[in-house]
Amino acid sequence: MFPPFLKKVAAVTGAGSGIGRAIALGLAREGATVHLADRNADGLAETAALIRAEDGRAFTTELDVSSEVQVVGWVEQIGSISGRLDAAFNNAGITGPAKRIEHYPLEDFQRVVAVNLQGVFLGMKHQIPLIKRSGGGSIVNTASVAALTGPGGMSAYAASKHGVQGLTRVVAMENAADGIRVNAIAPGWTETPMVAANSQQNPGFAALTQTAIPAKRGGRPEEIAAAAIWLASDTASYVTGQMLTVDGGMTIGG
Ligand code: NAD
Repeated sequence: MFPPFLKKVAAVTGAGSGIGRAIALGLAREGATVHLADRNADGLAETAALIRAEDGRAFTTELDVSSEVQVVGWVEQIGSISGRLDAAFNNAGITGPAKRIEHYPLEDFQRVVAVNLQGVFLGMKHQIPLIKRSGGGSIVNTASVAALTGPGGMSAYAASKHGVQGLTRVVAMENAADGIRVNAIAPGWTETPMVAANSQQNPGFAALTQTAIPAKRGGRPEEIAAAAIWLASDTASYVTGQMLTVDGGMTIGG
């Protein structure tokens, strides 16, 4: 049997670390040529080196997903290098500070929304035409369990991730007839550098959260990536407009 992404071209933002790196590596292992984007050049180079060490094909672009001109340039580059785009993963994100709303600085709110929500908007806006010219394909956006819940102190993050779910549904609706599926994943507590940094700041909260997860552990980036890659694959050919929660049961208790 052929690898599911053989001869396919994929794009991943936030590919320099954590979940995005795991998605990129997983796609390359399944045969895709991967175009990696991140604002962190060192992280990007590391991910590309991991892929090339396994004889995979990777191209890197340093960019800020909140910049339309940079996203346009990246998608044009994908078109000129690979000539098509079959799967896009809009995954880059930041958490922002943890503060009650009355103390939440406007500039932090705006930055979190610019990266997490505007970044996904710009990604889809410019990926859709290339995917359409390629004869259809799939997009997977990274939301969060914070798209389903209201974690105290995380107003910008939760608002941005709720927004990702809404955008995912709208773009799925607009493009279903053109053979483009658009879905989201909602990871729970996943052991990536983002979470490690938060845990260091607040070890008591980190321990409590992990005990509260029915699976009694955080997720591994590869476990989130596997769900995202499945959603993008032809095996999920009739799934669109959905958000798949991957959280060890964190949200099932209500
Ligand atoms: P991470 O910090 O390990 O990786 C995020 C990557 O995004 C980094 O390489 C960073 O440089 C990049 N990035 C940040 N802002 C960017 C920008 N403006 N432009 C381009 N790249 C940018 O974090 P992660 O845990 O792998 O997070 C990936 C996604 O998963 C995020 O959207 C995050 O909100 C979401 N998520 C993570 C968890 C978790 O527990 N780790 C849970 C739910 C959702």
